[in-house]
Amino acid sequence: MSNSVDSLLAILKSGAPWVALTGAGVSAASGIPTYRDDSGTWLGSQPIQHDEFITDAGKRTRYWSRSVLGWPRVSAATPNTAHKALADLEGLGALSGIITQNVDRLHQQAGSQRVIDLHGRLDLVRCLQCSLVEKRDTVQQWLEAHNAIPQHDVLTIRPDGDADLPECFLSNFKPPHCQACNGTVMPEVVFFGGTVPSSTVQASYELIDESAGMIVLGSSLSVYSGLRFCRYAVGKGKPLIILNQGHTRADDLCQQKFDIEPFSLLAQCTKQMVHAHQERLNG
Ligand SMILES: [Zn+2]
Repeated sequence: MSNSVDSLLAILKSGAPWVALTGAGVSAASGIPTYRDDSGTWLGSQPIQHDEFITDAGKRTRYWSRSVLGWPRVSAATPNTAHKALADLEGLGALSGIITQNVDRLHQQAGSQRVIDLHGRLDLVRCLQCSLVEKRDTVQQWLEAHNAIPQHDVLTIRPDGDADLPECFLSNFKPPHCQACNGTVMPEVVFFGGTVPSSTVQASYELIDESAGMIVLGSSLSVYSGLRFCRYAVGKGKPLIILNQGHTRADDLCQQKFDIEPFSLLAQCTKQMVHAHQERLNG
């Protein structure tokens, strides 16, 4: 491990600022389980697809009936050492910003300033008809007031806040609607099969252009929306470093990979860099 710390430390110092591309693995220690296991296969049942949500009222109801149970846990999640390390690195000038595939806002909670929410944010809900944006907490209150929420001690929660529960809960479930126009509402997130807004993609490319290299953390890059940024960075001659337990689709593109306790490694390196910075400040 100490060799790995020295090695990662040397890399972090060599080419700042780095841009971080983060995935579900970063939030796992905050109690938000990952979509996929180390080999990249699906865990649990399939999440809802974008087109299903838009066109199928039954699927939408099913989504909300599950999400109402998952949201409290996602909402209560707090940043872990990986989130905090990245916020510290930004404070030190070693990190230019973060492109995250996570929708939990934990990077912002940890104090990171420049964060691109590539797949949106789960704490907001948007009306598909009039575009009114409401807080997910407000929608949650409505859902809890208008539905009999079953008590479950053990729920399997996925990163979008979805949860596994029995079918019987579905039949009487009332999904939320827009408080202004009664329209269909949707979480402000990019579901599978959905499209990342072009302005978000553009902002991500600009952040990479400003950075000397890219670090991937906690993602197998099984979704193309993240993988393309690795290809872009490498295409621009920038080094790509991967901190992830298990296979990623960019393994053949990266300069170096750290796959044993990668976030502990990052935290140790960051701690040393913060310490060295404070020593310098103290004269
Ligand atoms: Zn509306």
